[in-house]
Amino acid sequence: MYKISVSKELFNDIQLKKLKILEKSTSSYWKRELLEPKIINDKIKYSIKQIDKIKITNGLGEEKPQMIIECIKVDYSFKKDLFEFHLGRIIEQKNSNLDENYKDSLIQELLRERALLEDSMNRDHLTGVYNRRKMENDLAMFIHQNNKDLLTAVFIDADRFKGINDNFGHDTGDKALVYLAKKLQEYSNFLNGEVYRYGGEEFLILCFLPQYELKPKLLELKEEIKNQKIYHPKQDITLTVSMGVSFFKDCKTKEELLKKADNAVYKAKEQGRDSIVLV
Ligand code: GH3
Ligand code: MG
Ligand code: MG
Repeated sequence: MYKISVSKELFNDIQLKKLKILEKSTSSYWKRELLEPKIINDKIKYSIKQIDKIKITNGLGEEKPQMIIECIKVDYSFKKDLFEFHLGRIIEQKNSNLDENYKDSLIQELLRERALLEDSMNRDHLTGVYNRRKMENDLAMFIHQNNKDLLTAVFIDADRFKGINDNFGHDTGDKALVYLAKKLQEYSNFLNGEVYRYGGEEFLILCFLPQYELKPKLLELKEEIKNQKIYHPKQDITLTVSMGVSFFKDCKTKEELLKKADNAVYKAKEQGRDSIVLV
């Protein structure tokens, strides 16, 4: 049986099935062993000898980690001038405890991947801000925090948004939503809160700020959204929003908090839009 000695990292990768093709440089030894010359039509052609299993080892001595592994195919890559051993299932292994440091780094990698996945599940694809699912989770947590009496819900609904889509196209509508989300994100930091896309052209900010600080900041936000034009070749677009604000200290449940803020948005719309109603 052929024996191949590899580094510790490669050995671990093979053991964890992260590496499926083991490359070996074409030394004269391997050429002699694996290339079988044949004479066809007076020309020398080489075929590659196939082997069914190989022994892979790491390090020296009797106690060295080793495994016998199925070899599905042996190839030769002209491009890289390498032999490629396509590895199959592990038939036997000895002394091959995974290195502890390696295991740790693997776990770290998995945790990182999981965190990334979790974050993407919590975000809205178009705007990148948190989505409604994340909002539900956060709100359930916020109402039990020590500072829950400061908890404030700000509903933000873009005014006459259907008109923007109708006049300038859906893509421009999307751009306007991305712009709006960015602005809300920027302000949610000043408001000591988080912004979420609630759905369609509706956003929600959950924040912790005393009312006297909150009011001027929201007014500033509303004006800034209105004053910053969104470019379009036909004509620059002005976007305005209506806001409804409710306070958890006046509510018994999180549902009531959201309902009140939602009702306040309706009032703001009734007042002619581009306004803020606090309840
Ligand atoms: P109001 O001032 O009463 O809120 O009027 P409105 O037109 O904003 O409200 P309405 O609920 O009638 O329409 C919301 C529009 O938002 C309709 C829908 O097509 C649009 N919209 C929702 N989500 C998206 C999106 O992801 N992209 C785009 N481009 N438009 C969206
Ligand atoms: Mg709406
Ligand atoms: Mg709207």
